Amino acid sequence: MATPLIAILGAGPSGLLLARLLTVHGISYTIFERDSNRSSIGQGGTLDVHTETGQLALKAAGVLDVFKAKARYDAQRMQILDKHGEVALALDGTDGEGRPEIDRRDLRELLLDSVAQEAIRWNAKVAAVRRSSENQTMEIELVDGNTHGGFRLVVGADGSWSKARDLVTTAQPTYSGYHYLTGTMPATNPYHDTVSALVGAGSLMATGSGKQITAQRLTDNNYSVNIGLSLPENWSKQPGNARLLNNATAYKERMLSEHFQDWAPKITDLIKHTEGPFRAWPLYAMPVEALSWSTSPGIALIGDAAHTSTPFAGEGVNCALHDALQLAEQIVKHGLEDLTGAVAEYEKLMFPRAIAMINESEANGEMLFAEDAPKGFVEVFSAYGMSG
Ligand SMILES: Cc1cc2nc3c(=O)[nH]c(=O)nc-3n(C[C@H](O)[C@H](O)[C@H](O)COP(=O)(O)OP(=O)(O)OC[C@H]3O[C@@H](n4cnc5c(N)ncnc54)[C@H](O)[C@@H]3O)c2cc1C
Repeated sequence: MATPLIAILGAGPSGLLLARLLTVHGISYTIFERDSNRSSIGQGGTLDVHTETGQLALKAAGVLDVFKAKARYDAQRMQILDKHGEVALALDGTDGEGRPEIDRRDLRELLLDSVAQEAIRWNAKVAAVRRSSENQTMEIELVDGNTHGGFRLVVGADGSWSKARDLVTTAQPTYSGYHYLTGTMPATNPYHDTVSALVGAGSLMATGSGKQITAQRLTDNNYSVNIGLSLPENWSKQPGNARLLNNATAYKERMLSEHFQDWAPKITDLIKHTEGPFRAWPLYAMPVEALSWSTSPGIALIGDAAHTSTPFAGEGVNCALHDALQLAEQIVKHGLEDLTGAVAEYEKLMFPRAIAMINESEANGEMLFAEDAPKGFVEVFSAYGMSG
């Protein structure tokens, strides 16, 4: 079989949606994914997919109905509390089809089912991308030493630390100053019923004094419980903290005594009863000034590879899916003979969307981690006529 002209790095939301759209248009591709198989996925949690971006892309790909069957519309319900446990804002989430939630795993599953299985190379961690010596095609080097060449376009959809990005920019994501530390409240935990009564089908966020505690229901009725803190970038790499993340009792004691001593028990009980494994996510964002590179023939970046952002605007996956849609549309419009033209037009559309998302997320982060939070956040919601 001839080598497909297009290689996609990463089988995350953006890479898989692009693959699906190429399938729809009869264009072949190869996906290189570092995970060893379809059920191993590094990150869990839930994502809200918006009508005007993420759902628009899923519709164009012909998978919106499958998405709707798996999405949780009742999960749009959201409460924001202050550190004393007072509800500052309660949204009942009845704005119809606007922002339903889907587990990251379910989104990946449904997209995986929609693409050519033989086109996915699992256990294929990319080490580097380069132009071939005659400069006509692109080559991909895997960490196992194998090289795959002959591609006319490599699409970096491999997340925040993309191996394709250095072909378009020297810029790197910068640390936001914040971490999320995640744990789980499984349905089997004796405290689960209390959390269920407090949080329900949606999510709860308590914020104040520059800190956050959130709980979000997942499809299997477990809750994902997150702590948001200002921590040094390498916090989880420091030996004492790496050990702490592996010792549930010590971890919870440290969090409660060091960070949340004066918070209402209604909220801190969430931490007290959470189970591991505990994971640390240092949060990064691409500097917005970097989002203006000149088109580099043979390379396109989509999703977090192009514009990783802190998650405070809840737009990351939506922007990623929208990128895949716009790149696919340009490839179809320009044809395989003019992939550089397609990428150039896609980039013109992507840059302003990405910059707006990163700026919005930064502004939301400032409000959510403010000393007097959730005051500013509630004021913004109220200005839009949404109140508790
Ligand atoms: C803690 C946290 C919470 C978030 N919450 C939200 C939210 O509520 N709403 C929202 O919209 N967004 C949220 N996001 C952001 C969202 O997860 C991302 O924007 C989205 O997943 C981007 O999709 P992607 O396909 O571009 O990249 P990814 O989802 O990162 O997928 C990249 C894929 O590439 C693979 N890969 C990586 N490196 C290599 C390599 N070298 N070789 C081969 N394969 C590789 C990975 O295994 C993965 O499958 C959150 C992010 C974080 C960290």
